[in-house]
Amino acid sequence: MTWAIPCPAQSFLTIAGSDDHFPVRRIYCVGQNYAAHAREMGSNPDQEPPFFFSKPADALVADGATVPYPPGTDSLHHEAELVVAIGVGGAGIARDAALDHVWGYAVGNDLTRRDIQASAKKIGRPWDMAKGFDHSAPCGLLHPVSVTGHLTSGAISLTVNGETRQSSNLSDLIWPVADVIAYLSSLVALAPGDLIFTGTPEGVGPLVPGDQCVVEIEGLGQLTTQIGDKTG
Ligand code: MN
Repeated sequence: MTWAIPCPAQSFLTIAGSDDHFPVRRIYCVGQNYAAHAREMGSNPDQEPPFFFSKPADALVADGATVPYPPGTDSLHHEAELVVAIGVGGAGIARDAALDHVWGYAVGNDLTRRDIQASAKKIGRPWDMAKGFDHSAPCGLLHPVSVTGHLTSGAISLTVNGETRQSSNLSDLIWPVADVIAYLSSLVALAPGDLIFTGTPEGVGPLVPGDQCVVEIEGLGQLTTQIGDKTG
């Protein structure tokens, strides 16, 4: 088979302590998966099942890179998140078996155009342009689960220019990783190469050009992102 245009580049994560790379197929994200963040966004975390949205795989940004301040917004927000990488696919995965599908974990930042999201929510429109824009998915080194074990607790934090903005613990996830995989795989078939951003704790807030944003998760190290000048 020959292609009419050059094939798009394969998105990937760099693996800690290895020369191998992890090819990325799809990026799923969980909304409002920490109770205090759900409340700060005006929801009731006690009554609502998990919900999902997506980012394009080519929105990934590596550790240390600069994200140009995106067009179409005056309210770019950070969201510190644990990222799960799927190594074994499946549909209708049982909760008890869900962690067997995990290849590894990484530190992520679910960058969000909060003003676009707010207006979309108000008039019942999709979140795609609020969440799935170019460079919207900074993600750090991928750590194999064979090294880290499964992350059910541990500090998760985010600083902007050295000032702490988010500080929580993975044990505060409303839907832990196994539940997220079981629930998501009841809606779509998961495949090797899928990433899941598992949601952010409270304390989300704005980033501006020149900011340095650092997300850290105990056991996974740091993800540093610089915010560049506004484009478009
Ligand atoms: Mn998020």
